[in-house]
Parts: sequence; C-alpha cells; structure tokens
Amino acid sequence: MINPNEALNLIQGLIVPKSVQKIAIQDALGLILAEDLRADRDFPPYNRAMMDGIAIKNTALKKWPIEDIAFAGEPQKQLGHSNAAIEIMTGAPVPIDCSSIIKIEDIEFFELAGEKWAEYVGKDLLNPGQFVHAQASDCKQNDLILSSGTKIGPVEIAIAATIGKTQLSVFKKPGIAIFSTGDEIVAIHEKPAAHQIRSSNSAMLEAVLKSHGFSPTVAHIKDEKSVVEQSLESALEKHDILLLSGGVSAGKKDFIPEVLEELGFKALFHKIAQKPGKPLYVGNRADGKLVFAFPGNPISTLTCFWIYFLPWVMGSHLILSKISVANLPSSNPNLDQWLPVKIKGVQAETLKNNGSGDLIHWKFADGLVWQKAGSTEQLLPFFPLRP
Ligand code: AMP
Ligand code: MG
Repeated sequence: MINPNEALNLIQGLIVPKSVQKIAIQDALGLILAEDLRADRDFPPYNRAMMDGIAIKNTALKKWPIEDIAFAGEPQKQLGHSNAAIEIMTGAPVPIDCSSIIKIEDIEFFELAGEKWAEYVGKDLLNPGQFVHAQASDCKQNDLILSSGTKIGPVEIAIAATIGKTQLSVFKKPGIAIFSTGDEIVAIHEKPAAHQIRSSNSAMLEAVLKSHGFSPTVAHIKDEKSVVEQSLESALEKHDILLLSGGVSAGKKDFIPEVLEELGFKALFHKIAQKPGKPLYVGNRADGKLVFAFPGNPISTLTCFWIYFLPWVMGSHLILSKISVANLPSSNPNLDQWLPVKIKGVQAETLKNNGSGDLIHWKFADGLVWQKAGSTEQLLPFFPLRP
C-alpha cells in the first residue's frame, strides 16, 4: 500500500490523453493551443497615431500651418510642405513624411490670413518620433507569436482575432465515461426499495466534469462479472478515461480490479494508506487508456476524485495552502486522513460526521485538510471543495 504523496507523484507521471480539434475562437477560452500562431502582417501594420493632435515633420518649429486632416479608417495621407502639419486622430496612419505627433492638449489653433495654424504650447521638448506607434514595432510579419501548448486566455483570444483566425486548433478534452456500479444502486428518478440507494456519485461526477468543459457519458453497471466486462470493454472503444464508482474493494462482488486486469490494464496502484478512499485504484493500458476506480461511498468517491483526478486531468497540480485547524482529532497511526472542515475566520474547524457514507454532514464543509499518519501538526494543508 502506498501513501497519498506517492500516489500523487505516480498520477502526475500519467499523460492526459489528447487529440486535436478545431473550434471557433469564441469557444477556446481556457483550452490549450495545438498549433503555432504567426503574425499575418506587421504589428502595428502601419505607423499609427497614438494621440489626437497634429502630425509634423519639422520638430524645430513652434508653429505650423494646417494642410489637411487625417482620420482613422482613411488611407495614409502625405505631407505637402515639410514645415506644415496635418491634423490627426488616434488610430489614423501617420502621413508620409511626418515623423511625430503633438497631442491636442499641447496645441492652440489660430487663424492667420485665412489659414488655420497650430502653435505648440506644451512644456517639454519635442521628441522626434513621439506618439507614433511604429509599424512592426510589436512584431514583424511571420514572427511566431503564440506557441502550441499555450493556455488560451483573453489576451490569446484577442491575438488570434487580430491575425484573422476564426478557428483554432486546440487539444480536445479527453472523452470520459462515468460508471456507477452496484446491485443496491438505482437512478435518481427511481424510488429506492428499503435496501437500495440512489446513485449520488454519478450526478456529482458528471456535474463537476461538465463545469470543467468535459462531456462525459454516464451509465450504471450491475455487480455481474460478464456485465462489468462487456460494459467496460465497449466504453473503452469510445472513451479515453473510465471513472468508476464502487466495486473496487475486497467484497465478493467487487469485480473491477480483476476485469481491468483481463482487459489489459496494469494497476499503477490499488489501495492508498488514507481515509476515506483506501481502496482507490488507478490503472493504465499500453494504448494510453486510463481508469480511475473510486470506492463507492459518496465521500470516498468525492475525495478521491477531487484530490487525485481533477487537478491532474486539468493539467495542474494539487495546490494546498496551510491552515490552522481547531478541534483536530488525534491522527491515525497508519493512515493519512482527509478531514472535512468549515472555515471560521482564519481558522478551520473539523466537522463531526459519520464516516465516508455520510453525505449529509458534508454540506457544512468548505474543504478538506490533510492530516498525515501519526502527525501532531495543527497547521495542515487545506484543499477547498467549493468551486
Ligand atoms: P462499494 O465501493 O461498491 O463497496 O460501495 C460502498 C458503498 O458506497 C455502498 O454500500 C453504497 O452505500 C455506496 N455507493 C456505491 N455506489 C454509489 C453511488 N453511485 N452513489 C452513492 N452511493 C454509492
Ligand atoms: Mg459495490
């Protein structure tokens, strides 16, 4: 039996199955880019005025006659006389032969002999090139601007748009099949007999995965070896990862580990020295398919899914901050414990509960703290449960 640290390290070594798909850029936020993006033109594509004001060539003068006016959206203009100016608006191409922009706040306009003139009234010396966002100063045409593997955030969406990409190649989320197992389990809409329980695990797993951009399928498997075999085999044809709840412990009808072995899976580990979730099984196959089989008790499934599966499949790491924990029970000498806590101010308080089958008391939990086997620490790693 391995400990949670070893299990987390082994899982981090697994490769999340990936394939590539093309999607509209508006749907790409948060996904991973699967192509290199190059500039389709210089950026900026022309010398762009950064201020409203006047465009000039001769920065040694203080007064310039106005020849013309250049608006954004108009083709580039040309200065007629080298001592003259052209009025200009932000975003307009700087006219041919103009080197600098003077902003409107530093100018006073006046009339002289029926002509419009601008006079410089600013305090600073004029800098040749000022307020001109020079062509190709951000990047040149064909420069590599985003590499495959980049996580797509708002800036990346805007960059893709500015180079004319309506669609992006991104790594597709792995296909996940969720299975609940157990003869005692019925669907949510069914009325359970006295000896039956509704499947809460399936809905929980599906909801969390959907909120993270996955499109899992959900089905149930009876505790019958041939049915387990058939169901898993056909799911593996269409999916990259199987998430199973139940059937992975030492019960007489817990067929999952042996069926997985028959289907060619190797256990990365089966059983972790932890509570809840000791029987957790994680396995992989030569073709890259993966199985995470969670013990069926709702809190075991939730804890194992939240700690071991979700950070890994999202390509991140388990990030834990430390928190001081009040009324901490003494640690278990052999098993690490994931304890439900409520946050009160800057402290966490452990919650009373009736073990891993007790969903109801977990409604108060803000997260889990990780108490290592034999530890006397009060300051424990905290992992939030609320999204
Ligand atoms: P197992 O891991 O198959 O031995 O299941 C342990 C216990 O978890 C069962 O006795 C059920 O009470 C509970 N359980 C199993 N599957 C589910 C499920 N899908 N939803 C809620 N509870 C479950
Ligand atoms: Mg079972």
